Amino acid sequence: MSDRELRAVLADAAALAASYRESAPERPHRPQHTYAEARAAFDAPTPERGAAGADIIAELARLAEPGLANIIGPRFFGWVMGQSHPTGVAADLLISAWGQNVGNAHATPSASACEEVVARWLLDLLDLPRDASVGFVSGATMANFTCLAAARGEVLRRVGWDVEADGLIGAPPVHVVVGAEAHSTIFSALRYLGLGAKRIVAVAVDEQGKMRADAFARALAPLDGPIIAITQAGHINSGAFDPFAQIVEAAHAKRAWVHVDGAFGLWVRACKDRAHLGNGLQSCDSWGVDGHKWLQTPYDSAYAIVRDADAHRRAMGIAASYLPEGEERHPADYTPELSRRARGFATWATIRAFGREGIDELVARDCALARRMAERLSAEHGVEVLNDVVLNQVAVRLGADLDGEVSDALTQRTIARIQREGECFVGGAHWRGRQIIRISVCGMNTGEADADASVDAILSAWWTERGANA
Ligand SMILES: *Cc1c(COP(=O)(O)O)cnc(C)c1O
Repeated sequence: MSDRELRAVLADAAALAASYRESAPERPHRPQHTYAEARAAFDAPTPERGAAGADIIAELARLAEPGLANIIGPRFFGWVMGQSHPTGVAADLLISAWGQNVGNAHATPSASACEEVVARWLLDLLDLPRDASVGFVSGATMANFTCLAAARGEVLRRVGWDVEADGLIGAPPVHVVVGAEAHSTIFSALRYLGLGAKRIVAVAVDEQGKMRADAFARALAPLDGPIIAITQAGHINSGAFDPFAQIVEAAHAKRAWVHVDGAFGLWVRACKDRAHLGNGLQSCDSWGVDGHKWLQTPYDSAYAIVRDADAHRRAMGIAASYLPEGEERHPADYTPELSRRARGFATWATIRAFGREGIDELVARDCALARRMAERLSAEHGVEVLNDVVLNQVAVRLGADLDGEVSDALTQRTIARIQREGECFVGGAHWRGRQIIRISVCGMNTGEADADASVDAILSAWWTERGANA
């Protein structure tokens, strides 16, 4: 590729990226293409000959855009997703252009050093032990996996078993205690770790989905030997936080390792107004948290934080590099991967863009918007908000149709209509025995007008569907 072609293809990509982002507020919030339509758009025989970069990039945008979800749009409340801060996105373009493979500090010093500094910033912002170690992974799924690998190694080491060397076969059993409403990816992590997705002690939760401290203590009482307890900061439907102080006290009395799945909720620690929700979690042993949810880093980005850096390195270090660190921090010692993109740069840029104050305001604003939406929705006769809206999640249950029938089908049809109309995007979930609408306010682009217009769209879809059924 000539210099001129190089400049043209990168400029084209940047221009397309900017146009897409500028148009996000006006785009429908659902993809216009279904999966089948998107597949038909891309469907083509294996290319025999190469083509010009500028043509390829133009074609990619043309084929993909109709099937893109408008996750960066201001009225996107589906799942729990951030909006990819534009400065983080710009950094991400550089990351790709620089082609750094960040595993080893000598090979890629800038990428490795930047991660070391960003790790320090994260521990400061989240107010976690300053000597904890941080692995830069792809998402909270891998953050939880990484932390739980460290946990598995350490609780077995305490009973004289070296799982890193000898594996799990023949090892003393590890007890895993989990809240009954843990995120599904916790069970994936347990599966990858050979601990079994089903061989757990499930702890009863209250009506907000928080582990009950008394039930936790009862579950723990008969257990001996290696124990891992998995807690949650931010329940996926309610946003609720487990009672950390009580859990940690009971767990540490039995030398159990306590992990926190804080994929989005851990960010309350960076918000003066909400920090109280996370009281006590700083005494846990490991924490998984996403960048690409509340921090708004571009995908993909999350952090595996472990109090005992040696346990972290024993679990993840490649070859013998987990032996005592020298001057340099080798990124590959803290993540499952050897070769990976230098995602620390995007976190660096995003934290620089917000600053501590900006993150504090973002979390507080999203929580206030969630409360605003919850208040307006629950003021409507027949609409019930099931959770205490302490955070950014709102679980909405719709009442009866005009025949007086309460049905999950009505809620499902309402969600489908909201998504079809595209004014905003909400998803659904099954919680407490019923279909709910789940609203997650997790973006930087959402304002009060968006929240209000979205409530209008939700109610109007419900009225239409309710009437249609009568
Ligand atoms: C989103 C989420 C996860 C999984 O995170 P990914 O970034 O999608 O891998 C785990 N736990 C909770 C509570 C979540 O909200």
